[in-house]
Amino acid sequence: MNIAAKKVDVAREAAVLLEKLGVASDLYTGGAMPSFSPVTGEQIASLKTVSAAGAAEKIEKADAAFRAWRLVPAPKRGELVRLLGEELRAVKADLGRLVSIEAGKIPSEGLGEVQEMIDICDFAVGLSRQLYGLTIATERPGHRMMETWHPLGVVGIISAFNFPVAVWSWNAALALVCGDAVVWKPSEKTPLTALACQAILERAIARFGDAPEGLSQVLIGDRAIGEVLVDHPKVPLVSATGSTRMGREVGPRLAKRFARAILELGGNNAGIVCPSADLDMALRAIAFGAMGTAGQRCTTLRRLFVHESVYDQLVPRLKKAYQSVSVGNPLETTALVGPLVDKAAFDNMQKAIAEAKGHGGVVTGGERVELGYENGFYVKPALVEMPKQEGPVLEETFAPILYVIKYSDFDAVLAEHNAVAAGLSSSIFTRDMQESERFLAADGSDCGIANVNIGTSGAEIGGAFGGEKETGGGRESGSDAWKAYMRRATNTVNYSKALPLAQGVSFDIE
Ligand code: NAD
Repeated sequence: MNIAAKKVDVAREAAVLLEKLGVASDLYTGGAMPSFSPVTGEQIASLKTVSAAGAAEKIEKADAAFRAWRLVPAPKRGELVRLLGEELRAVKADLGRLVSIEAGKIPSEGLGEVQEMIDICDFAVGLSRQLYGLTIATERPGHRMMETWHPLGVVGIISAFNFPVAVWSWNAALALVCGDAVVWKPSEKTPLTALACQAILERAIARFGDAPEGLSQVLIGDRAIGEVLVDHPKVPLVSATGSTRMGREVGPRLAKRFARAILELGGNNAGIVCPSADLDMALRAIAFGAMGTAGQRCTTLRRLFVHESVYDQLVPRLKKAYQSVSVGNPLETTALVGPLVDKAAFDNMQKAIAEAKGHGGVVTGGERVELGYENGFYVKPALVEMPKQEGPVLEETFAPILYVIKYSDFDAVLAEHNAVAAGLSSSIFTRDMQESERFLAADGSDCGIANVNIGTSGAEIGGAFGGEKETGGGRESGSDAWKAYMRRATNTVNYSKALPLAQGVSFDIE
């Protein structure tokens, strides 16, 4: 079902929301950088960009702020993040709507993204009283050994268009309680939501009272401005989310100056449907994982291996879901699938589908859905039955294409599952405990996220998020991801009257 849109003035609505969110209009009018809404493809703002020198100046300011912020007790730093969570709660509807306008997400996903920001703030507030170090048994009498965790410095954040606000909050909320300053280079496709986040944080800072000036900065610009952040010697950690192509450029530059990197890159996520799977449950999880966010999540389900014994029960039902899913303007309809981000995404999708056909793929869906917007790109999600895993199946195409492949042998499908370059998210649908445990074992899924009877997308903030191989190896959000945002010191204290050396070494001078 395609849902027709009423006429919507996205530029006007964005301006109203930005005003409500407290963003000064001179930041997004009269500038050189256009911003478009994928909903209609129209230009909605012209942003002022920062120069390379201006970016360096902001980084210096953040570094100065860090030097004061690191001395504020961590639980007090947590109070700032608590206030940020409060401010976010107050503007959830408006910010969620702006996410829908700028990233094209359906309303529940736009709101869900803001909820994720609130959740990570709550997590970080608790964390601000739990930045624990170990005490460690020492081999020397009269000594004590321990670990202390100290603030690290300025944390650079580079983010992708598809999670325009949540990724910033995953990093910023942790960095702020860890005693760091943050400098954010948002995607050039979603700068307005970044300005809104900065305004929201500034309100929290004003309520907090005595936070150092410059603690949080936003750099509006393209990848060249991202490079300034990556190369700056006063940025000891860069958390960069985006394509593997971007990670290939950013990773070596950071390594060259021995800076830390949290790389959160592309995924090519798979699910396995086993003979004992609950097919109703699998169907729903697959539909959300593969078609949700119009296939534009890093964790989107892209490859589906279905056991031959259930293939004919599951795949026709899936195809039916693909044919009937509602595609439409997310601002004006209740459609489940909104637009692709731009024409390039549409072209990439069509290219991958054509290639898949060349490898014997049989396609359901994939065609453009005309809603009357010349530059708004809506598509029917595509389900492509493939004879085997090859060609475009091996790559991430950032669009709603699900490749479906029949399998017969569990060991062979596990090997196929792992035989791609990316390693972000994975899932298995089974009620057979041996299969699920094997999937989670050392020689099972090689991804950073491995789920049982849950789809590949929609992670909670409590766990560490990230993936292996070409996904970059970074971890952010929950669990102990905070450790990357701090400097660890091992301290040994001698309270004896002797100086025994470790490992029994003697070095006696007269
Ligand atoms: P992108 O790589 O085009 O851009 C991401 C960001 O990197 C942008 O802010 C961009 O300006 C910046 N950038 C690009 N090249 C740079 C360089 N050389 N130096 C510094 N900065 C640079 O990605 P996109 O199209 O915005 O997002 C989609 C991609 O992001 C997909 O591959 C998706 O899987 C991935 N992604 C990964 C995660 C994750 O957590 N693993 C989350 C969201 C998105």
